[in-house]
Amino acid sequence: MAFSFFGGVHPKENKWYAEEKKVQTFPEPDVLIIPMNQHIGAPCKPLVKKGDSVTMGQKIGDNQGLCVPVHASVSGTVKAVEMRPHSSGMTVMSVVIQNDHLDTLCEDIKPRTQEEIDKLTDTELMNIIREAGIVGMGGATFPTHVKLSSGLGKVDTIIVNVSECEPYIVADDRLCQEYPAEMLKGLQIIMKIFNLNSAHIGIEDNKSAAVKALRREIDPQTGIQVDVLPAKYPQGAEKQLIQAITGRQVPSGGLPAAVGCAVFNAATCKAIYDAVYLGMPLIRRIVTVSGDIVMEPKNLMVPIGTTFNDLLEAVGHRENPYKVLSGGPMMGAAQFDLSVPVIKGSNAVTILGSKNRFRVNEPHCIRCGKCIDVCPMRLMPLMMYSAQRGGDLEELKKQNLLDCIECGCCAYTCPATIPLVQAFRAGKQQLRDAAAKK
Ligand code: SF4
Ligand code: SF4
Repeated sequence: MAFSFFGGVHPKENKWYAEEKKVQTFPEPDVLIIPMNQHIGAPCKPLVKKGDSVTMGQKIGDNQGLCVPVHASVSGTVKAVEMRPHSSGMTVMSVVIQNDHLDTLCEDIKPRTQEEIDKLTDTELMNIIREAGIVGMGGATFPTHVKLSSGLGKVDTIIVNVSECEPYIVADDRLCQEYPAEMLKGLQIIMKIFNLNSAHIGIEDNKSAAVKALRREIDPQTGIQVDVLPAKYPQGAEKQLIQAITGRQVPSGGLPAAVGCAVFNAATCKAIYDAVYLGMPLIRRIVTVSGDIVMEPKNLMVPIGTTFNDLLEAVGHRENPYKVLSGGPMMGAAQFDLSVPVIKGSNAVTILGSKNRFRVNEPHCIRCGKCIDVCPMRLMPLMMYSAQRGGDLEELKKQNLLDCIECGCCAYTCPATIPLVQAFRAGKQQLRDAAAKK
């Protein structure tokens, strides 16, 4: 049964730019930059040094605690281990690899037969998923093995997120059309770990080809069902998707497991298939490279570590970009340095032209209340904005700023074009700094 969620908006989808474009293998770049921070948690420590030879799929970084390893996405020689710009806006420790274009595979990588897989215990499966460096590939980048282990005994409903509600992005849509069998096999591994015999795939009604491909591939015996949801942004936000599919509401500050749910991105399921069946760690992903000034929008299978510059060159653009975003126009982060690399959570690079420059110089709130009507978290964006501007941290807490999912619905609808999300990100940082001082 499909429910709806409160608020939300209907931005122009602009999916047509790339939705018909089949996934192409990106020609491997000569140099790749593999950041040690590609997940939520402790950054990896490099396991290689300048001058070392590496093979494709070799582990090149790892750490203790909340962490997953990173791997070389090509074979070659380590050119440097140094700080490099990252799409988060920070500079992070990275391994720079000179590609030898030989694709020499790491000798640890070995496929498994179905018989071998059937004999694996849940702990062994979760360890394979950890060792393959798998994280939430919709952008959240939370380590998947931790989501699995922490949900054991609590989760009764698995949801695969194919909402992909951000304008322009079609990477998961294409993945479900072109790799439905692999995605479903990955999902069945998750079902095995949770010991559940049913699962939902949540997908918006603007992806009819993907719905058909999945339904064609699903064996009714597996208990997997496709839930087609009316397109509305931000359907793909975890809490909104859970509400849309189950009617359950994740409490303020709570995790999906609090209401018995676990949500996995479609690309994450495919990565689990690659790890368990092929023995292949997460070293490639599909990236939609699109935008209103792009000459030839594409969906590219890209080695992790490919720079945004390489991707821009591959698609071309008609004018100087006004903005290049990691992600889509609603939640994406604007990039100031295009030498940043694709990481595990990069589902899109969106390139926008000057007609998107619409901000007024000194915006003032006109108290219209539109931001309140669209906030899917039922927050009061105008109150949060005024508290953040006034540096009133107590009021920010009272207004539950930390529940803001930074979806951008408020900013999208604000007639005064106030940069609300930037203010909320800054406010969250102020709260974190204040907590750290205490
Ligand atoms: S960005 Fe935050 S405050 Fe604005 S609509 Fe989304 S959840 Fe609400
Ligand atoms: S939508 Fe913009 S102008 Fe209207 S109340 Fe909210 S912040 Fe103010």
